[in-house]
Amino acid sequence: VWNFSAGPAALPLPVLERAQRELLDWNASGASVMEQSHRGKRFIAMAHKVDADLRELMGIPDNYAVLFEQGGATQHFAQIPMNLAREGDSADYIITGHWSEKAANEGAPYVHVNVAATSKAESFLRMPARETWQLDPKAAYVHIATNETIHGVQFKQVPEVGDVPLVADMSSDILSGPVDVSRYGLIYAGAQKNIGPSGLVLIIIRRDLLERPIRPMAKIFRYLEHAANDSMLNTPNTWGWYLAGLTFEWLKDNGGLVAMAERNRQKSELLYATIDGSGGYYRNPIDPPVRSRMNVPFTLHDSALDAAFLQESEAAGLMALKGHKALGGMRASLYNAVPLEAVHALVDFMHDFAHRHG
Ligand code: PLP
Repeated sequence: VWNFSAGPAALPLPVLERAQRELLDWNASGASVMEQSHRGKRFIAMAHKVDADLRELMGIPDNYAVLFEQGGATQHFAQIPMNLAREGDSADYIITGHWSEKAANEGAPYVHVNVAATSKAESFLRMPARETWQLDPKAAYVHIATNETIHGVQFKQVPEVGDVPLVADMSSDILSGPVDVSRYGLIYAGAQKNIGPSGLVLIIIRRDLLERPIRPMAKIFRYLEHAANDSMLNTPNTWGWYLAGLTFEWLKDNGGLVAMAERNRQKSELLYATIDGSGGYYRNPIDPPVRSRMNVPFTLHDSALDAAFLQESEAAGLMALKGHKALGGMRASLYNAVPLEAVHALVDFMHDFAHRHG
């Protein structure tokens, strides 16, 4: 089947096949990677390689720490202000959909949230124009979600925010194309879309931000402690870390992030062209320049056809096209592991469905 799940999402087939081959005897150890001490020499060597591969793929400068954390991106909605803001500080949030709004709500107990821009009144169908953002030069940071997984809007350029550190939730578009890491203070991403299994969160943080004077807190919440302990302050998600490493190797073997960007452009353009060319049978109302290359929500002209569309698509081997309950309709997620061939199968089905159900 072709898997269009928004997350946990498809992993590259070669990654799964390799994990299957290595499941019972990893690295000639006679045991599974899940059964190894994270402090053992095999695991530590692997962790170094995973770090080096990610740094190479994303071009991460040396003055950034890379952390392999837990708690889902949701926990870091709170942990980021805990680490970057002092009592009484405020932070600017740009609200472009469900997830950036949730980040602001979950951050609010730890920082004064200033909504510097929002497209909520326009149902998140477009991005708030950069000229309209009310940024505070004294803000502890500016928070964005580079891609809104539910609403299907994506920043195509890094917004200019001056000297205030830019913090980005990249859960649903990390590794989908090249990123200039040096433009960000902190990048974070739950793994379950473009990296590996859920339960792992990648944090890329400029080292000077680790040293901010902040409130007292338990070590387990403090990024500085995690960085000082190579993400092994406590037992990490070893299985997720290992699979992330296999995904990074797969990306390197397949042309890296430049090649991924091109594949993702082709996939999303094919699907949007099919929707836009359907004479209103299918619709995606997002402002075209900010349409997401990862998550494509769309509706049918008559929602009475939704059940048939879902049932028939599933029977045709097209999995997980049901839209998020907040928006209804359909959503096709086109993460790195989804090949162009899958999108061809989807658009062929869409043409055929429209023809048959007129
Ligand atoms: N941020 C974005 C953009 C997401 O898509 C998601 C989940 O889908 C989250 C945050 C929350 O991630 P988690 O469920 O890992 O906490």
